[in-house]
Amino acid sequence: MIQTPEPASGTTSEADIAFRSEVREWLAEALNGQFSHLRGLGGPGREHEAFEERLEWDRALAAAGLTCLGWPKEWGGRDATLAQQVIFHEEYAKADAPSRVSHLGEELLGPTVLAFGTQEQKQRFLPGIRNVTELWCQGYSEPGAGSDLAAVSTSAYLDGDEWSITGQKVWTSLAHLSDWCFVVARTEKGSSRHHGLSYLLVPMKQPGVEVRPIIQLTGTAEFNEVYFDNARTAADLVVGQPGDGWKVAMGTLTFERGISTVGQQIRYARELADLEAVARKNGAIDDAVVADRFDKAWVGLRVLRAHVLRTLESGHDGASVDARTAAGQASVTKLLWANWHRDLGELAMDVLGAPGLIADAEGDDLNAWQRMFLFTRADTIYGGSNEVQRNIISERVLGLPREARP
Ligand SMILES: Cc1cc2nc3c(=O)[nH]c(=O)nc-3n(C[C@H](O)[C@H](O)[C@H](O)COP(=O)(O)OP(=O)(O)OC[C@H]3O[C@@H](n4cnc5c(N)ncnc54)[C@H](O)[C@@H]3O)c2cc1C
Repeated sequence: MIQTPEPASGTTSEADIAFRSEVREWLAEALNGQFSHLRGLGGPGREHEAFEERLEWDRALAAAGLTCLGWPKEWGGRDATLAQQVIFHEEYAKADAPSRVSHLGEELLGPTVLAFGTQEQKQRFLPGIRNVTELWCQGYSEPGAGSDLAAVSTSAYLDGDEWSITGQKVWTSLAHLSDWCFVVARTEKGSSRHHGLSYLLVPMKQPGVEVRPIIQLTGTAEFNEVYFDNARTAADLVVGQPGDGWKVAMGTLTFERGISTVGQQIRYARELADLEAVARKNGAIDDAVVADRFDKAWVGLRVLRAHVLRTLESGHDGASVDARTAAGQASVTKLLWANWHRDLGELAMDVLGAPGLIADAEGDDLNAWQRMFLFTRADTIYGGSNEVQRNIISERVLGLPREARP
């Protein structure tokens, strides 16, 4: 039987042991009590599940001092060490706690404001993220600017003491539920590529913003088209210097998928073990090819885990990592987890066999495996597609010739 990997953080310091106990006990009490119905809910492809209740859950976590752990104490964090952050994500995943609704603020915008924002911006936005009173979405991609983000054409100009923003974003996850959007917009007329862009913080609930949901393969809609038509935001809500938004936008991407990938692997191990149980029950595991794919998946998970832990450690405790190595590590991590999870979705369909092709006749809905199979097709696209990751590794890390640019 496939086992959930043991905790990675082999730390023995008293503070870490006490921290693990605090987290474990809080989660056990909450998930056996008031929030027991939320176990395992939410996440990519399942964001529609119990959204309001999960929002309440996030706020309870905040009240217990368990959000934004790595942030400085002055901004409501705990100055938690890397080991403690790993412990939190391990315990969170092992407890099968619900997927967070405020992750884009906590993991992307918050660290960006801490790194590049003004004191006023920190005061204005960090408490709302820390206490989960304001939700954020990411306004980067456009119909003509996805992998090639420097092709952004949404434009903004200063009109008195406000920015006026016009253009279209697409694939904006959770925009329909968000209060704010961090938007990459072209603020210097006639500029091109990564020059002349600015990183604007834009309120979503205003007449100039229209959000149109996009229905996914799964039948649910968790990302959107977002139209800005003379949308407004205050002149001082630009992070970094106007025109220097590329640097800030790239900074945000370096925060994407950091420590939380440790918890992700524990969830993947659980999915693998659950699928193995299905395969044993319906006999699919007796097929040698299927059994071999399970073995390979188990090994793949170990490889992913070793890689992520090594990556986290290499940038820690003063060890310096040059930009090239960091880019390579991030791209390898993305390739490993995205391909692993996509392959698991395919394995699930093969394990289910013909019944996997039929939607639930009763509820006219997809079961968890079908939903997982369909959504994992997106894993190799968002956060940088497979092809883009391979380009980064080949060009920036291995020094192979650059591909032709238009
Ligand atoms: C589930 C999901 C959630 C998302 N959430 C958000 C969000 O919240 N905010 C946001 O801003 N964006 C979001 N995105 C968008 C995501 O970042 C883009 O889909 C991604 O960057 C790819 O861009 P694109 O879709 O425009 O495809 P394109 O860039 O048009 O790529 C099309 C295909 O061409 C390939 N390709 C592109 N360039 C090259 C190249 N140079 N060499 C080789 N192959 C290449 C790609 O790999 C891909 O297979 C989300 C996407 C998904 C699927």
